[in-house]
Amino acid sequence: MARVIGIDLGTTNSCAAYIEEGVPSVIPNKAGYKITPSVVAITASGKRLIGHAAKRQAITNPTNTVFSVKRLIGRTFDSQIVQAARISSPYELEEGPNADVRIRMHGKLYSIPEISAMILAEMKKVAETHLGESVEKAVITVPAYFKDPQRQATKDAGMIAGLDVLRILNEPTAAALAYGYGKSMRKKVAVYDLGGGTFDISIMEISDGVYEVITSNGDTFLGGEDFDSRIMEWLLDEFFQEHGADLREDKMAMQRLKDAAESAKISLSTVTETEINLPFVAADAAGQPLHLQKRLTREELEEMVADLVERTVDICQKAVRDAQLRVDDVDNVLLVGGQTRMPMVQRSVAEFFQTKPLKNLNPDEAVALGAAIQGNMLLESKSDSLLLDLTPHALGVGITGGYFKEIISKDSPIPISKSHVFTTETDFQEAVRIIVLQGEGANSESNILLGEFVLNNIKRSPRGETRIKVFFDLDGDGTLKVSARDMDTGQQQSIMVSAYSYLTEKEISDMVEDNREYVLEQQYEETLERVRSSVSVLISSIESAVPRLRAQLGGSAENERALQKILDIVESGKAAIEANDMERLMEVEGYLKRTHSILQQNAASS
Ligand code: AMP
Repeated sequence: MARVIGIDLGTTNSCAAYIEEGVPSVIPNKAGYKITPSVVAITASGKRLIGHAAKRQAITNPTNTVFSVKRLIGRTFDSQIVQAARISSPYELEEGPNADVRIRMHGKLYSIPEISAMILAEMKKVAETHLGESVEKAVITVPAYFKDPQRQATKDAGMIAGLDVLRILNEPTAAALAYGYGKSMRKKVAVYDLGGGTFDISIMEISDGVYEVITSNGDTFLGGEDFDSRIMEWLLDEFFQEHGADLREDKMAMQRLKDAAESAKISLSTVTETEINLPFVAADAAGQPLHLQKRLTREELEEMVADLVERTVDICQKAVRDAQLRVDDVDNVLLVGGQTRMPMVQRSVAEFFQTKPLKNLNPDEAVALGAAIQGNMLLESKSDSLLLDLTPHALGVGITGGYFKEIISKDSPIPISKSHVFTTETDFQEAVRIIVLQGEGANSESNILLGEFVLNNIKRSPRGETRIKVFFDLDGDGTLKVSARDMDTGQQQSIMVSAYSYLTEKEISDMVEDNREYVLEQQYEETLERVRSSVSVLISSIESAVPRLRAQLGGSAENERALQKILDIVESGKAAIEANDMERLMEVEGYLKRTHSILQQNAASS
């Protein structure tokens, strides 16, 4: 049966998991790491570095190293978050051809789904290397509050990476699946997810294999990186006060500060005091080096970020209220996302929910495990579990005056069908335009356009008399079908609202092809490297065996001829390495292997 993997495509880190004989496990990479930093870098020669390799060189290559790309996915260039990122990111953001965001690295423009695809392709590769087979299918997770364009862009990224994306799954639902998998229970569970860039809270009911999301809420502008920024701001101010030098314009120093701030924050989750040391971070007017050295205590850090943690608690309060529950109705709290390792976060969550969060789920892995579980459920298409999800945002149509008429409200369980009757706004109107929007804003403008269509040839009558019934059908996969019918004539028109993608079909297919070519090129390079190194090892081993063989056999002309043959093969191996020619290398590798094994047999029998 085909294999499916679950991928948690995180703001800061990504993680992949699979199921083997009913047991979900996280997939480690070759170096043994279970999580891969969601960092992508492009080198001057156009090579992609992903994960740890990219993170390690971020300080020396800040303008060509991209992190936190998830914050930008599926957003327009003029959105608030993109404009904020333009100021704070060392890499260059530009407006794309479709009002989307592009990142320039070494002169080439990359779309956001392309960057995310590089991370997904890396996760695919990690899985393929570990499992020893090709992996095509995946379930990818996104925050519950992601709007359709963000989900679509994530799907596009999966496609560019060469993956068949079976489903885009909400992260908290995935975490609850990992928690409830294989257990029989009836519980109300809160999933508190504080990752690198975003905060998400969902309240779910798990009841014997049925997972129902009661409510979800969150903040796209709140995550671990905001905690790091607080430390950075403090360091920048302290440094300025001490040396009168502002490091804000120095991209390399800022990258070092960012790394140091995050490391300090992470260590303060286990120790109560830490030292931040950045030697040679800048130079004074006389060219003398300036060093940054500071002590930070856990208490000081807690003070710096208290309002951020408080903001998450306020959102939890809202979620509990929206779910029409009391805090003590929630049986368990699951913690997801790396930032929940901070003791203050755990304390605040425990205080608010009046229960200690469960510790048996690894916050970095739970979401990927849940995605793998869901993937398997979809693949087997028989399952003991049922996911009942919610629409994370309201859906409706734009109406006269620029207003928004909500048809399906936020948090409605899906699948769902709703309709509303509209009338015409001008006398003898012949057509109506149906503008489908997503969001909670009272005005059309503040919501996101999902699609539009025109219903022509409607009954011509004075304004307000023609009645048009608009239906919204949202299926369990989140696919929306909108239709409009003239109630008098029966004239009807409908569209499937596939979320708007900021990439054209042609762009996506070009990117799929680019990625495929890149992957093939990489595979070629890796094979070339492997064969080169194998040939070189065989050559040294044979060369060191020849004098021993000569001594052992004696110098008859026949033996010398045989030895010369061996040396000729060695020479052709050296020439193939020099020429860097794959075909020759592979051919000579075969001869060398045979010669090597004959020499070994000979050595063993003498
Ligand atoms: P995620 O997006 O779930 O991978 O979470 C990443 C965020 O968690 C980053 O901001 C990390 O700095 C933060 N993080 C990871 N480990 C810890 C830790 N031990 N203590 C505090 N924050 C952490």
